[in-house]
Amino acid sequence: MWLNKPYNASPSASGAFGHEVYHVIQADQSGSFLTEAIGLQAASTLTEYYFGEPFAFDPYSFDPSASILPQFLHGNVEAQGAIVQSMIADSAAHGYPRGKVSSQYQETYDEILRRCRECKKKKKY
Ligand SMILES: [Zn+2]
Repeated sequence: MWLNKPYNASPSASGAFGHEVYHVIQADQSGSFLTEAIGLQAASTLTEYYFGEPFAFDPYSFDPSASILPQFLHGNVEAQGAIVQSMIADSAAHGYPRGKVSSQYQETYDEILRRCRECKKKKKY
C-alpha cells in the first residue's frame, strides 16, 4: 500500500506526494470531492482578494499541537491532505521504517488504513 512505502525522497517531497495521493483516495471515496475542493479554492482566493492574506480562509489549516484525529475526521479535504502531508513528512524526517508514524499521528494513520481497506473491499486495487 502507498502509505507503507519507504521514503526515498526528501521529507517535504514525500509529504507533498502523500498529500496528492490522498486526494486521489478522497476522490475515489466521495462523489463530492471535486465540488468541495473547488469550493475551498474559491473561498481561499476570494477571501484573500477581498480581505487580504492575513484574513484569508486557509483550507489547509490544522493545529499540529492538538489532537490530530478529531481534526482529520472533521476537516475539509485540504485540511485532511495537509494532515497526511505532515504525517508523512514527519515520518520521513525521523527516518522511520515503513508503516511507522509518530504517536500523535497513530490514530489518524489507523483511520486512513481502515478507510483504504474498506475501499479495497469494494474495488480491486
Ligand atoms: Zn490538496
